[in-house]
Amino acid sequence: MPKTASPPHKARTAPSRQSDVLALHGAWLARAAAVAGQPVSRGGSPHPTVQVGAVLVDRHGHELAAASNRFASGVDRRRPERYAKGAKSLWINCAEQMAVAEAERRGVSLKGARLYVTLEPCAVCAGIIAELGLRDVFVPVNAMRRYARLKTKWKHSIEIGLTKLAEAGVKVTAIDTKEGP
Ligand SMILES: [Zn+2]
Repeated sequence: MPKTASPPHKARTAPSRQSDVLALHGAWLARAAAVAGQPVSRGGSPHPTVQVGAVLVDRHGHELAAASNRFASGVDRRRPERYAKGAKSLWINCAEQMAVAEAERRGVSLKGARLYVTLEPCAVCAGIIAELGLRDVFVPVNAMRRYARLKTKWKHSIEIGLTKLAEAGVKVTAIDTKEGP
């Protein structure tokens, strides 16, 4: 959003507009959480413990793509061994990657798009986000804490991811949402 000076007579309305903006971001994060939580057959996350949703929104506020962390299309998600410790994260792709792939499939441009995701991006996704030129990422406040069973290796990956985003000039904003993902 361009930071232009408001005329004095409009300054009074700034707080409510700010809360409107927060509500809007909260609504997109709720949408991301809903995508993760829908039935697996409809694109919801099959991950047993860490279900993540991601939504890409264009500069006009239109949804470009949405996805959960899930198996890639055509990859068999019914094999139990693919959910085993150490295997899950190799079989299940991050929500951000799946959302970007969906945008690509739809042929929509991600220029100037915002990313809403229910968990801070991992180190791999952060690199992709930077490379795509996305400038804004929104996550829920204390997102990592909401995923109580997040493994240490993922926490470390997220720390590196946040550093990558900061260095690449991608702004990460934590939005205070009422509900968890
Ligand atoms: Zn990732």
